[in-house]
Amino acid sequence: MEENQNHTKKCPKCGVVLPYKGFYKDRTKIGGLGTYCITCTKKRNKKHYRENVEKIKKQRKEYCEKNIDTIRLKAREAQKRAVKDNPDFYKDCYKKYIENKRTYYKNNKEKIIENNKKRKNKLRFFVFEKLGSFKCIKCGFDNINALCIDHINNDGSEDRKKIGFDSIALYRKILNMPQSEARNLYQVLCRNCNWLKYIEWVTG
Ligand SMILES: [Zn+2]
Ligand SMILES: [Zn+2]
Repeated sequence: MEENQNHTKKCPKCGVVLPYKGFYKDRTKIGGLGTYCITCTKKRNKKHYRENVEKIKKQRKEYCEKNIDTIRLKAREAQKRAVKDNPDFYKDCYKKYIENKRTYYKNNKEKIIENNKKRKNKLRFFVFEKLGSFKCIKCGFDNINALCIDHINNDGSEDRKKIGFDSIALYRKILNMPQSEARNLYQVLCRNCNWLKYIEWVTG
C-alpha cells in the first residue's frame, strides 16, 4: 500500500527501491507487478536458462516438431496482419530486401554462379544415378558434359509447359518421383543420339 502511494517498490532480492517501471507487469500478483525488479528477473531467467539449456532446447524442439503446421499458419497470419497494419513500412522493407539482394548478387556474382553450377551438377549427378546410367544408353558415349535427360515418350514439350525450361526444375521433378516411374519416363542419351531420335520422331 505504502508502495502504491509513492509509486515505488522495493525489490526483495537486490533491495533497491525503484519506480514501477522498474518491474515487469504481472497480473497474477497483488498490485499487478512482478515480485523482483527487471534486472533481478532477467538475471534469474538467464540463470534458469543456463542451468536447463539442454532441457529447454529439447522441449522447444519437440514442441516445434509436433506443432509445425500450427506454428507456420500462425506465423503466416501474423505476417499478414503486420503487413496490413504497416503497409508503408513493409513496402520499404520489401524494397530494401530487393535492393540488398541485388547488391549481394552484384558483389558476389562469380561466387553465386559458381555455387549454382555446383548445385546443378550435383542434381544432374543424382538424376543420372536414379536413372541408372552415367553414359548414353544407345551408343555408350560417357562424357557427362555431353549427356542429357531424354523424354522417352517424346513429351518434353509438355514437361516444359508445366515446369519451364529450367533444367533444375526437371531434375527436381525426377528426383521427387519413384524410381520405377522415373525410369519409365526418362533415359540418359548423348546429345547426338538425342538429336537423331528427335529427327526420326519428327520425320516419322
Ligand atoms: Zn532487484
Ligand atoms: Zn549416344
